[in-house]
Amino acid sequence: MTGLAVSTPRLLLRKLHQVMAGRGDAQQRLDEIVRLIAGNMIAEVCSCYLMRAGDVLELFATEGLKKDAVHQTRLRVGEGLIGDIAAQARPLNLSDAQTHPQFAYRPETGEEEYHSLLGTPVLRGGRVIGVLAVQNRTQRSYTEEEVEALQTVAMVVAELVSSEEMVAATEFSDTAGNATLPHRIGGSILAEGLASGFALMHEPRIEVLQTIADDVPSELSRLESAISALQSSVDALLTATNTLFSDESREIFEAYKMFAHDKGWLKKLNDAVRTGLTAEAAIKRVQDDTRARMKEISDPYLRDRLSDLDDLANRLYLHLDGHTVIDRRNLDQATIVVAHNMGAAELLDYDRRHLKAVILAEGTRSSHVAIVARALGVPVVGQCEKIGEAIEQGDFILVDGEHGQVFLRPGDDVQEAFSTNVRLREERQAKYAALRDMSSTSKDGVKLSLNINAGLLIDVDHFHETGADGIGLFRTELQFMVRSQMPKVDEQTALYSKVLDNLNGKPVVFRTLDVGGDKVLPYLRTKAEENPALGWRAIRIGLDRPALLRSQLRAMVRAAAGRELSLMFPMIAEVSEFIEAKAILKKEIEKESKRSGSEPAKINIGSMIEVPSIVWQLPHLLNEVDFVSVGSNDLMQFFFAVDRGNPKISDRYDTLSPSLLKLLRKIVDDCTAANVPLSVCGDIAGRPLEAMALMGLGYRNFSMSAETLGPVKEMALSVDIDQLRDFVLKLCDVRDHSVRDQLRSFARDHSIIL
Ligand code: PEP
Ligand code: MG
Repeated sequence: MTGLAVSTPRLLLRKLHQVMAGRGDAQQRLDEIVRLIAGNMIAEVCSCYLMRAGDVLELFATEGLKKDAVHQTRLRVGEGLIGDIAAQARPLNLSDAQTHPQFAYRPETGEEEYHSLLGTPVLRGGRVIGVLAVQNRTQRSYTEEEVEALQTVAMVVAELVSSEEMVAATEFSDTAGNATLPHRIGGSILAEGLASGFALMHEPRIEVLQTIADDVPSELSRLESAISALQSSVDALLTATNTLFSDESREIFEAYKMFAHDKGWLKKLNDAVRTGLTAEAAIKRVQDDTRARMKEISDPYLRDRLSDLDDLANRLYLHLDGHTVIDRRNLDQATIVVAHNMGAAELLDYDRRHLKAVILAEGTRSSHVAIVARALGVPVVGQCEKIGEAIEQGDFILVDGEHGQVFLRPGDDVQEAFSTNVRLREERQAKYAALRDMSSTSKDGVKLSLNINAGLLIDVDHFHETGADGIGLFRTELQFMVRSQMPKVDEQTALYSKVLDNLNGKPVVFRTLDVGGDKVLPYLRTKAEENPALGWRAIRIGLDRPALLRSQLRAMVRAAAGRELSLMFPMIAEVSEFIEAKAILKKEIEKESKRSGSEPAKINIGSMIEVPSIVWQLPHLLNEVDFVSVGSNDLMQFFFAVDRGNPKISDRYDTLSPSLLKLLRKIVDDCTAANVPLSVCGDIAGRPLEAMALMGLGYRNFSMSAETLGPVKEMALSVDIDQLRDFVLKLCDVRDHSVRDQLRSFARDHSIIL
């Protein structure tokens, strides 16, 4: 038996086109489509299963199986071979299907006569919405061309199924597959808050609205124009990388250039259009192929190259005429950005007026995108598995950043419950606002200092609304990350002046540039590192490239002329680094004094405590500093050897573990002995239970995201620190994984509001 000749797809597609454009309802068209496929592929059977409510695949049309089985035969996703194709979202090619362990016999179909089976998922927006399968009596193996042809036809079926007409068809409409069903996805809270809006995919996705070309020559010319636009843009990028980017970026763009001019890739695209596909559908076909190949390749280098090709297909799609590119900086509706993961700078690219929330497949609470989102007051739910498959561009979504969940296409009942949550949240916010002007003093009269972490001008503009005592950590790198070029000294000076002006005498602690690791500056050339968190970052860059640090210190000194300046250095691992950095600062002060005759009225120079090694040199460090601040995010990362950005392990160890508490206590003891002011500015400062434990350990100065100030203040006002102290100190010596439960019980027993 001969299979489908390579030239036949175009003929088949032309016939399918006629069916699609012809008369009849969607069901009739689907019946006609399976008949045509069976005839053209010389298969005795062609069946189409579509996804129904509850992840069930229902036989919607068949040529060859018993007609009575249509709308009767149902398989769960994962059940039988059809269910397996849907579950794995990849084709299955079997010469003897019945001996396959997954085979599930359905007597009503009469399929016992057929041995070979070729099935492929019907995909829409990366989601399986059905399965298309052909079967033959003989035990034959389908050729690669036949697999590809069936995949191409599956795209046509996807178009038909997605059309409104099909969705509106009898019965199917109520439960139109998982595409329109309400759906809840659980995740973890990376930034608190509640928001609703419409999904915008951060990574552009190829959308195929029409699969079969009306006019092949004109599609070929659309493709050709897009290819030359892509080639020029990649060439231009490469020229830019010579001056702006790192070796690593240049390598990637060189690979892009190679692929963008690769004859094999271009031929595949052109061939796909010649079979009768639109340019969009052709790009999608070729991309699907690449993805299928990627799944089978384990060599990381080759996988990377294939993923370059995948990305290139997305870029090519963006160059097709008629395609509308969404301008991130000018959004026109409430937007929920959906991404696999993203950097802080990319988040800042979005129009803040309409950016309402972010959903990430990955992400952790201490990753910088989460830190920036909290600064912006944008809720983030992260670690939502399979969001890419579940969410479609434009879906209406509710993001519940209070409980770490996301509702897609919510029903009325869920929307109502959500509105109640929004109201309750507003009530809570009003309660926190009422605490704003109260002094931060514990129940037993201990004076505390509650500050906010900032880094963007928006934080500074809203500073006085927070009721904070000051800014305990100003992350200067955020200003560097939002720009495409290194800010000049004058620009930096203007910024730091504005911060000092706005704070109007309240304390602010600037931290010098902390880049590297996951904080990337596009214009700073750095080599790719195997272990970036342990690599060339923060003060290490500052000391190795003193010009950068000097220019920043100069700007700070100028901005603070005649007033008080507090600044600290990040990632100090040993005293000598601090001494070296301090010497650079002293020189800048001298130079500035000579240049302008002015200098800050007072300078406080501090060090962050983020690397465990410095804790064992504290007495020496404390001799050199005016203050220290614990960066618990990094301290925790290095203490437990746990990557703060890796969701798989980021929760493995608890911040409320006895060993970490003991380390934190040692810092208090050393600072008390040396009479050096101490604060904590990592994420734990903003969590009421953690902040309570820190108060028990002796911490009095906290700096946190503005969002968390209210809850921490409410806790602080209700705690008797004297009662708490002994309890917490004892917990430092227990052998448990965590003392969270004990602390919670203490809070409950002593009416501490958490
Ligand atoms: C920290 O590490 O705790 C810290 C405050 O710095 P960042 O989160 O910016 O690394
Ligand atoms: Mg840090």
